[in-house]
Amino acid sequence: MMAEHRGRSIRHRLRALAAGALVCMLVVTGVAWAAYTDNMVPTANYSRACAEGSANGGVVCRTDNAAVYYYMDSGNLDGYDNALEAVDKDIVRNMLASQYAPTDLTIHYDSTPVWTGSAETDIYYEEYPVPGDYIGMNWCNDSSPAPRHVCDQQYIRIEGGGTYSLGVSCHETGHAVGLTHGDIASPRRARNDPQLGCLQDPVGRSVTLGSNNREHINATY
Ligand SMILES: [Zn+2]
Repeated sequence: MMAEHRGRSIRHRLRALAAGALVCMLVVTGVAWAAYTDNMVPTANYSRACAEGSANGGVVCRTDNAAVYYYMDSGNLDGYDNALEAVDKDIVRNMLASQYAPTDLTIHYDSTPVWTGSAETDIYYEEYPVPGDYIGMNWCNDSSPAPRHVCDQQYIRIEGGGTYSLGVSCHETGHAVGLTHGDIASPRRARNDPQLGCLQDPVGRSVTLGSNNREHINATY
């Protein structure tokens, strides 16, 4: 079965952890909740500084604060109409309302997006062909002047032709707020572990955020 989600960035190319290397977390001290795994960057297994990426790759970065402004109406990129169709906009709107708005993040549509400076629109969703047989990806478009693991503006690119779904858009949005795949979480988990919610890879079309991701978002923002 074809993967629902594959990305092009460095993190997406990481190999799945070898069987037998799973670590059991038996004792948790010092935290108010027992996370299934820590998949909010930086983790004990992934601490790369945020850096500006491109459609060829990037690193996982947090967004710069709890107020998340997003945009999805752009016209023309490289001669390609990369605006989302109405049905895709509805998917993103409903996904953000049902999965991320109930967290400590606040979600706002930015009808006058900002592309330069130090307070850019946080997440830009576009519909655009993704290289190879990947279907979605995310990268930081402006990592300065933010702190080490933080990005001022994140790009999310998902293919057209009905690829936009709750699960896929939830997955890429999770990366845009700093959530990683299971194989670089701590303890490491299989990339397709269902307890990773929509950050599992590949991800089904109707997979939701899940409690592990929600708890990390609330602990971070
Ligand atoms: Zn991913």
